[in-house]
Amino acid sequence: MKIIDIKPNVILSSMGNETVEVTLFFASGQSSASVPAGISAGQFEVQNVSPDKAISQIENIKNKLINVDFSQENLDKLLIEENLAGNASLPISAAFWKYGLNNKIYTKFPKLFLLLFEGGKHGNSSISIQEFAIIEESLDEAIADFKSMKRYLDRHNIESLVGAEGGFSPKGFDNSLVLETIKNVFPDKQIAIDIAATFANSGIDEQNLLANYNIASIEDPFSEEAWPDWTNFYKQFGDQILVVGDDLIVTNKNRLKTALNPRAVNAIIIKPNQNGTISGTLEVVRMAKENNLKIIVSHRGEETDDSWIVDFALECEADFVKFGGMDRGERIAKYNRLRELGMK
Ligand code: PEP
Ligand code: MG
Repeated sequence: MKIIDIKPNVILSSMGNETVEVTLFFASGQSSASVPAGISAGQFEVQNVSPDKAISQIENIKNKLINVDFSQENLDKLLIEENLAGNASLPISAAFWKYGLNNKIYTKFPKLFLLLFEGGKHGNSSISIQEFAIIEESLDEAIADFKSMKRYLDRHNIESLVGAEGGFSPKGFDNSLVLETIKNVFPDKQIAIDIAATFANSGIDEQNLLANYNIASIEDPFSEEAWPDWTNFYKQFGDQILVVGDDLIVTNKNRLKTALNPRAVNAIIIKPNQNGTISGTLEVVRMAKENNLKIIVSHRGEETDDSWIVDFALECEADFVKFGGMDRGERIAKYNRLRELGMK
């Protein structure tokens, strides 16, 4: 596919910060993609620069991108060789990828990690765990359950703002009260938490959590450099729950290799903007699948209204997705896209 023109642009994220959007023009149409950002970003993610710098990096290599017949791999290879920052390379890579999709029909859909509560860097500081989700098989069920939780909070006069990703974050709540609330409202649902331990010195007693709550998945129980803690944890709990690496692996093939030997995880968070290109991200997905890891494709704390991450999740046949609560327009955009692509 030949790109005939490129227009990079600054737009606002869900936090009101500037981020980069790129529109690629082809002989027969155009395609735009924008990039999200992490609020609790891992230190080993691909580096980003200010949106202005990203745009000048794109402008500087424009001549090398235009009127060349690229495959996705060749385009991404060039973006890496040119040393582009993640927020310069990914919007080009993703816009190109999006254009090649051609309204595909999907019949297989991932399960949802429906976010109900958030704390840590995403919400109220009295809750140290960053995310509390329940696992949903269908979108309709997720819509109904999010409303049930809202009704429960209203009935108990619990006022709550929502956090960065649309999950409730009531004042005065702590980790235990959140878990008790979820258990009360949804006694039979499986719970997935993201401790995001790089950012919260939470002192969580996982054994105690597993004994008292229906926890099926724990993401980032230890910080991004605590390899021995991870491998011990995996040895102890890896046959009971999903042990999920996000900040540990940051969608990076070298870090994934390290996490496989000795084993530290049985599931991986996939975030293309941790990696910087679509091909690089797909390579990590392939390696993870070859090693029997569950694939969890995820949005970021700071999002845009763009929903290409949904198409990406379906293309990689993700086992699970994280798109936040049923609140805030940028999260609803993802659920609407899932619905548009056929998920019920
Ligand atoms: C996460 O940690 O899983 C997450 C989505 O947060 P952020 O994008 O802020 O890193
Ligand atoms: Mg995480």
